Amino acid sequence: MTSSGQATPSMAEATLDVAIAGAGPAGISCAVALIRRDPSLKGRISVFDRARFPRSKPCGGGLTGRADQAMRALGLELTVPSMACDRGLIRFADLDRSVSLGRPVRIVRREEFDASLVAQARDLGVVVQEETPLEDFSVDADGVSFSAGGARRRAKILVGADGVSSRVRKRILDRAGTPDGRPIRLFRSELSVSRAVWQRYADTMVYDFSLFPNGMRGYFWIFPVPGDRLNVGVMHDPSTPLSGGDLERLLQRQLQKYGLPMAEAVRGWPAWGYDSSRAVSSQRLLLVGDAAGIDALTGEGIAVGMEEGPLAADQILVALRSGEFGFGGYREALRHATVGRELALDRQLARLLYHQERWKKLLPLILFDQRMVEMYAARVSGSLILTDQKPALLAALIRHALHYRSRKVAFGRALAVRSPLYQLRNGVPIRVGPQVGSDHE
Ligand SMILES: Cc1cc2nc3c(=O)[nH]c(=O)nc-3n(C[C@H](O)[C@H](O)[C@H](O)COP(=O)(O)OP(=O)(O)OC[C@H]3O[C@@H](n4cnc5c(N)ncnc54)[C@H](O)[C@@H]3O)c2cc1C
Repeated sequence: MTSSGQATPSMAEATLDVAIAGAGPAGISCAVALIRRDPSLKGRISVFDRARFPRSKPCGGGLTGRADQAMRALGLELTVPSMACDRGLIRFADLDRSVSLGRPVRIVRREEFDASLVAQARDLGVVVQEETPLEDFSVDADGVSFSAGGARRRAKILVGADGVSSRVRKRILDRAGTPDGRPIRLFRSELSVSRAVWQRYADTMVYDFSLFPNGMRGYFWIFPVPGDRLNVGVMHDPSTPLSGGDLERLLQRQLQKYGLPMAEAVRGWPAWGYDSSRAVSSQRLLLVGDAAGIDALTGEGIAVGMEEGPLAADQILVALRSGEFGFGGYREALRHATVGRELALDRQLARLLYHQERWKKLLPLILFDQRMVEMYAARVSGSLILTDQKPALLAALIRHALHYRSRKVAFGRALAVRSPLYQLRNGVPIRVGPQVGSDHE
């Protein structure tokens, strides 16, 4: 191996135990978990990435408490500049809810963060080959033949950590006969602002749901970034049909409302929400991270990928020892792990909250039930598992039903302030604008 961790030609040609496509947080976590659990795998696993690090990665860069925990469990450290946010601000029109985060969320620049993970993995003996894209592959009885960076190679196992446009995901879903539906979309930009404006947001993550009456199902965010910059964006669930142009206009309009500069070079990226009924493995193939699916409620995926990497590593170690490479148990292992249970719960919550009409009943629950917001904040901090809180969630729903009438009136007032499409009649928000299949103005 060279000092930079690049494979020598003879190593690259040998049959690998594990080839990992993608050196983002998910792929690196899987590789590090493998090496930590079985140091004899050094030199027998290789991570291939089509990019050279530091590479650009559109992201909010929020490392939650769960990401902290996952990194600590792998012995990885945060070595790049970050902003520590210990406050979350949840907004809808003129309603503000503030919540303190037991453990701050750290906002990083992904370019820097991902490169630092690659460097740490190399220090542990993981081979990472940059500018070496996985081009194609085929699975046979004895292994996987693949082409990466123009060279033919073989491995016993191929892990798809190749992000949202994963080739490995496509193959697995095609085999399972479950093609993808419509993806979540995230639009993001980084703004340069004055020191005074930046300080207003320096310890706070803003999640603003005010765009619901405009047909957007998701939220607008503002996260502080080191160096007088703000990371801003919108996350949109596909349950309402907004075009890319619509979403960009909504983002710009929201920035205007906050008195922030217009975003330049805004781009949207798709992401697949995790769905526990979809295949995440097939013979000799496994998926981790965005390739397996992100949190459908929040669009969070860094911690998800870093929790899934070690789970996949456990399955791989069993396969290497037993010689059984079907990975039939991986989906169940993922479903039963904390990460899979939390993802499944958020998928259900997303279905409720982002539903065409139901949001008017569910958003007030979040806005008026402080306990509910605190539970979610504790989950973000990593001190609580929401799926273990079913009685508390049920209690929140019962409280909501009991207080619904008064909450509806206050929410309706905020909704009428927010959107000319709604007017208050006897305290109830009634749609008065045209019906066009979505709430879009
Ligand atoms: C706008 C936006 C904002 C977001 N904000 C947040 C946030 O604040 N917090 C959070 O937790 N999550 C956020 N996410 C989600 C988060 O970015 C992803 O979930 C996370 O990057 C997933 O990590 P990954 O390793 O699976 O994939 P990636 O980080 O995408 O890494 C995949 C790697 O695979 C490589 N690759 C792709 N194809 C090939 C190939 N054929 N061969 C070899 N290599 C290949 C790529 O170069 C890349 O390095 C956001 C996403 C978006 C789009």
